[in-house]
Amino acid sequence: MAKYKLEYIWLDGYEPVAGLRSKTKIADYDAFPALEDLPVWNFDGSSTRQAPGGNSDCLLQPVASYPDPARDNGVLVMCEVMNPDGTPHASNTRATIPDDPGTWFGFEQEYFLYQDGAPLGFPGEGGFPPPQGEYYTGVGFKNVGNIAREIVEQHIDLCLEAGINHEGINAEVAKGQWEFQIFGKGSKRAADEVWVARYLLLRLCETYSVDVNWHCKPLGVDVDWNGSGMHTNFSTTFMRETGGKEYFEALMAAFDKYKAEHIAVYGPDNHLRLTGLHETQSIDKFSYGVADRGASVRVPHSFVNDGYKGYLEDRRPNSQGDPYAIAGRILETIATVPTP
Ligand code: ADP
Ligand code: MN
Ligand code: MN
Ligand code: MN
Repeated sequence: MAKYKLEYIWLDGYEPVAGLRSKTKIADYDAFPALEDLPVWNFDGSSTRQAPGGNSDCLLQPVASYPDPARDNGVLVMCEVMNPDGTPHASNTRATIPDDPGTWFGFEQEYFLYQDGAPLGFPGEGGFPPPQGEYYTGVGFKNVGNIAREIVEQHIDLCLEAGINHEGINAEVAKGQWEFQIFGKGSKRAADEVWVARYLLLRLCETYSVDVNWHCKPLGVDVDWNGSGMHTNFSTTFMRETGGKEYFEALMAAFDKYKAEHIAVYGPDNHLRLTGLHETQSIDKFSYGVADRGASVRVPHSFVNDGYKGYLEDRRPNSQGDPYAIAGRILETIATVPTP
């Protein structure tokens, strides 16, 4: 028997953006516990905007678990929040995603590292470094500063040690801005892993007195500095194996029809980011285009070359979006398009 440290992680009831919460439970196991061996737990929902004070218990249902690279005998336990009667809590966006092992998602999470109210590497006192140009995929102190690389490198290792399907990183267009990519087969897997990767990044940054700023336009709209997105790449078994131009056009017509419903869950303040500038389409328009980074949906060259088969990239979700809600909405729209 050994004492295991189970870190139960869940999303709180804050709006428009849920925050991450977690607490530790110590439990005895002979070996690393299977998901089924992790008990349902509870928490005080009145402290997380998930319950009234008089009746405050909410349940934590473990749904995915990972070895915690920062702890001996540690387990990261991703949970869904349930009502006392076992039904999904209103804040439980994961419960809106239909289970489908044939659906694959890839999220490109952009974010800024912040210290003392400004992106890492900014001169301070409201000043700005030289304009954008050399920071994207840049190298050298003047482009990436001195701690950002150490943080993002450690974040890769933490994710890989936890078994997260991390696919890569790059320095982004603005100074202090970075991206990581997470890919997963199964409709919920990548979204689970984005939330756990966010958790690991926030926890890592505590040591550096650095905060992660997930806002989609943290520097505002009056300056020529990029915002942050979370491009969402998706494919279903049908899209990969059958596809075809007719189906693709019907799918894009459905995306056009439901554009407001998509934008509603693609992250707050997206009107500040989706302006038609900085490689975006305006928030009130829907468009698609081959290799078009100014379209709402970018169609990869390979998709057309393979006879309209493969994956598509929805470029509208922003960095603060909830990958559960985004995945759920995309699948809801896909479900409205009949397959032959
Ligand atoms: P870019 O920056 O050019 O848009 P990235 O390489 O950052 O591209 O991200 C591409 C994403 O597409 C990755 O997260 C990748 O896993 C994902 N992806 C690739 N193939 C598929 C697929 N068949 N279904 C869903 N997502 C996919
Ligand atoms: Mn990318
Ligand atoms: Mn990017
Ligand atoms: Mn992209």
